[in-house]
Amino acid sequence: MISLTNIERYFQNGFTKTYILRYVSTEIKEGEFVSIMGPSGAGKSTLLNIIGLLDQPTSGEYLLFDQPVHNLSERKRSELYKAAIGFVFQAYHLIDELTVYENLETPLLYKNVPSSERKSRIADILDRFNMVAKKDLFPNQLSGGQQQLVGIARALVGQPKLILADEPTGNLQSAQAEEIMQVFKQLNQEGVTIIQVTHSEKNAAYGNRILHLSDGKIVHDEHVTTNV
Ligand code: ADP
Ligand code: ADP
Repeated sequence: MISLTNIERYFQNGFTKTYILRYVSTEIKEGEFVSIMGPSGAGKSTLLNIIGLLDQPTSGEYLLFDQPVHNLSERKRSELYKAAIGFVFQAYHLIDELTVYENLETPLLYKNVPSSERKSRIADILDRFNMVAKKDLFPNQLSGGQQQLVGIARALVGQPKLILADEPTGNLQSAQAEEIMQVFKQLNQEGVTIIQVTHSEKNAAYGNRILHLSDGKIVHDEHVTTNV
């Protein structure tokens, strides 16, 4: 599903190039649940953003669904992103002026999903997250944990094949973190591929594999025997 070959990413400051990723090569198969771990500044978010088409490598080859995407046009990248990727951000990026229901509806409107299907998909996802009673509230009427759940629900309502999550439980209490990991695990069992950046060993235990990143390189590719 994902094939990265010698991916590099640098930022240019004047004449100086600062490399964030160096010769990153790996493959991720459909149905995997991968955690990217490593010290702060290792390049984890940059790698996730490249995988999620939000950033581009400065060199290397990236195949997503067997097509090269490292040099796609802006328009094609954006189409592919909308069609296949659900990105869960650490900051929730909810729209304050819209209710929970309306926030969940936005990605479906972008994708021109018909009205009756929008209703049923949103009803399903609200049910899955135990948020039916909150559908008419605005983000500022929800706790941080609930806002994060809505952010995740919004990433899932478009039924992406690939879910990418950057510290999805970053600011949450452990019960809420577990609830979110359980949802991820269930989706993964339904065939959705998941890649998360996390500092949490507990979160990583829900996945099947850990890519350890240090100084922009994959230093260890660990197989996890899931027992949660
Ligand atoms: P991690 O997620 O592992 O903490 P990041 O991928 O966020 O690491 O960032 C790796 C390094 O890249 C950090 O030192 C960060 O300051 C730097 N960096 C990220 N974005 C930019 C940018 N736009 N310009 C310059 N440096 C950046
Ligand atoms: P948590 O313990 O998860 O942080 P809160 O104490 O912030 O939750 O919120 C408890 C409940 O009160 C939640 O169900 C939330 O939806 C509701 N709530 C919080 N703020 C408001 C508000 N301004 N208006 C209406 N309901 C609210």
